[in-house]
Amino acid sequence: MLPDLFSTCGPQEKRVFCALQKFGPVSKSQLLALTGLKLTTLSRFLRPLEELRLVVRPQFGESSGGRKPALYDVTDRDYYLLGVDISRTYMQIVLTDLKLRVRASRRFHMDGQSTPERTVRTIVETARELADQATTPGGRIVLAGVGAVGPMSRTDGVLLSPRYFQASGWKDVPLVSMLRQGLGCPVSLDNGANTAVLAEALYGIGRGVPRVVYVNCGVGIRTGTFLDGVLIRTSQNAEDVFGHMVVNADGRLCTCGKRGCLDCYATIRAVTSEFAECRARGEHSDLPADVTWESICAAARQGDALAASVLRHAATYLGIGLSNLINLLGPGLVILSGPLIRQSDLFYETAAGVAQKQVWAVQSGVKFHRGGSLEEDAIAVGGAALALEEAAEALPDSRVQAVQHSG
Ligand SMILES: [Zn+2]
Repeated sequence: MLPDLFSTCGPQEKRVFCALQKFGPVSKSQLLALTGLKLTTLSRFLRPLEELRLVVRPQFGESSGGRKPALYDVTDRDYYLLGVDISRTYMQIVLTDLKLRVRASRRFHMDGQSTPERTVRTIVETARELADQATTPGGRIVLAGVGAVGPMSRTDGVLLSPRYFQASGWKDVPLVSMLRQGLGCPVSLDNGANTAVLAEALYGIGRGVPRVVYVNCGVGIRTGTFLDGVLIRTSQNAEDVFGHMVVNADGRLCTCGKRGCLDCYATIRAVTSEFAECRARGEHSDLPADVTWESICAAARQGDALAASVLRHAATYLGIGLSNLINLLGPGLVILSGPLIRQSDLFYETAAGVAQKQVWAVQSGVKFHRGGSLEEDAIAVGGAALALEEAAEALPDSRVQAVQHSG
């Protein structure tokens, strides 16, 4: 039986662990530079980590003459993390090692039957199955983290009232305590856009970039922001605030009660209703009025002028919203993700192109990436990353270090 993660570790051991977890394998001298510790102190803090089998010496590095230096790293055996992405139409569950490498994953539909109780049961059963199949003998899941649809109370571990879920019962759900009971390990919770940006900034395409913004465009618009080593959280931890940026003062009536929000123009709902309105006005297309967004994307690819025009219109609004966001935050990287971005080249290219053109000159160095490097695993991997950050108490200063030392 393995002891609990960090059960006997103090803040300095955790600091050494975090440095190795993000930059290992490294030699002792590199570790001294990363942690700023003295050699004797470092050895003292490494010992309990090695006794817990959290840190290993997996290999030897290049020698500059003389004996080859031992390289230290966190173990890729024994201890595993569970990451969960609870979205409106699917749930993704990943098992990762302590380096946040995905060892196994499962994907499920979220439909009218996916009540909170059933969803939690699926997570717990899947965790057992993945632990049996994908860990080393005796290995187990020591931490779990969830990226979910907000709004939520992170401190209470409760999902408050996520919108557009098909099943009933998703109101004031004590998700963290339900999962902790089923999984038997600590559970962290954040909104999915936050966990996605955390994963991409620390382990993905944003590694080494000081300011990263992640925008997921689908049923709603979900945004996560990682600025100078800090995850920026909005009030009530809602991830859809960017969706309510006004991009048209006299525009459409939004579900929030205001007019002209981005959410009314650049979401799946907006695309399908715009298409239906155009057809009702008599504009030509081979598609019927009540068509799915996937069919609109496919038709645009095959040359349907109305489908292309509706997507271009939606993406233009997204681009304008993005340019405002970029002007405000000054990110080096904007990751565009989600169903509309994935399915439609036209949608992605128009949104990124308009944003690039509209952005204020001082922010013109911004780069765009389609999908991020963790792609559809980003939210779930970020859940696991969040759980580890919280357990290791990797507070903003260590994240700043992570940014400074990488890339
Ligand atoms: Zn709104």
